[in-house]
Amino acid sequence: MQDKLSLMIPGPTPVPERVLLAMARHPIGHRSAEFQTIVARTTEQLQWLHQTKNNVLVLAGSGTAAMEAGIINVLSKGDRVLCGDNGKFGERWVKVAQAYGLDVQVIKAEWGQPLNPEDFREALEADGAKQIKAVIITHSETSTGVINDLESINKHVKAHAEALIIVDAVTSLGATDVPIDQWGLDVVCSGSQKGYMIPPGLGFVAMGDRAWAAHKTSNLPKFYLDLGKYRKSAADNSNPFTPAINLYFALEAALEMMQTEGLEAIFKRHHRHRHATTAAMQAIGLPLYAAAGCGSPAITAVAPQGIDAELIRKVVKKRFNILLAGGQDHLKGHVFRIGHLGFVCDRDILCAVAAIEAALQELDAAPNPMGAGVAAAAAALQSV
Ligand SMILES: *Cc1c(COP(=O)(O)O)cnc(C)c1O
Repeated sequence: MQDKLSLMIPGPTPVPERVLLAMARHPIGHRSAEFQTIVARTTEQLQWLHQTKNNVLVLAGSGTAAMEAGIINVLSKGDRVLCGDNGKFGERWVKVAQAYGLDVQVIKAEWGQPLNPEDFREALEADGAKQIKAVIITHSETSTGVINDLESINKHVKAHAEALIIVDAVTSLGATDVPIDQWGLDVVCSGSQKGYMIPPGLGFVAMGDRAWAAHKTSNLPKFYLDLGKYRKSAADNSNPFTPAINLYFALEAALEMMQTEGLEAIFKRHHRHRHATTAAMQAIGLPLYAAAGCGSPAITAVAPQGIDAELIRKVVKKRFNILLAGGQDHLKGHVFRIGHLGFVCDRDILCAVAAIEAALQELDAAPNPMGAGVAAAAAALQSV
């Protein structure tokens, strides 16, 4: 049967019908009053989602474009930065920073483990000359399903007082609390195909006052991603270049849905789904990949023992048309990941868990008793 695909990957995530329909129209002129109204409205909505009064700028590009913009707009050649790396996306931060010739000190943690805030404290306290210009981290490390302790790391950055904090919040924004102004986060990057519930194609960068001050002296090369241009146009509810107009239609509709649900309710739902998914995997006897207590509310990574994770994923896709994510790099075949980010409801969680159990049965690795995962998920969904 066609058209029954269920996306349970950490991006692209499912898109609600009303968001799909909002896009199904001719583009309008991006210099028109009608479009300016949409920019004005989405700007307010984005500030609401980001819990900030500052600019949230919209780029035509994926999340990585937002990450790159986050670096090149506030740093200068040879600047020293601390980069957290405990997975594929932490690695990406390191690569982007190195591509621009920054002096990168990598703070590593094993895949599956969270970054240790103490490592940041030590490195920042050792920097008496205040040469570290930025601390760059991934909040929710999608590759391993680990959520890093942004609040604690940020406190150490604030104690240093000179360094900016630059955050990849691609799979945490819209899934868990990221109070940008309250915490004083300087640069926060995200992408449309994750918690926003819209298709890929937009990147977002929230920039605070200290980041704008750094922008003035930043000398890394930039043209299309120069956020100064976007800020200037944003003041007129406009864009410097042709924006992804139909994705703006989607953005307005999706953010309206999010506002109707409410931030607290959205966070609660994601936390409930993490709880249900992890409880189910444990009941089935499938070990979790992320260390205990630091599972991401957006994604659960599972590390089956004695059975190929890719095989489980293939059967779930072929038999039930539910797409789970595989393991990246050395985790391929060892890990599968269940996305529960964005437009995901309790029923989706129950279906995914049931499909995994059925796949295991087909592979002669059924849990004992069969249905243990569904029972655990149902109980968890009820309890919170
Ligand atoms: C998806 C994702 C990105 C952005 O990737 P793109 O493919 O460029 O959109 C960045 N960081 C994390 C943690 C992600 O999950």
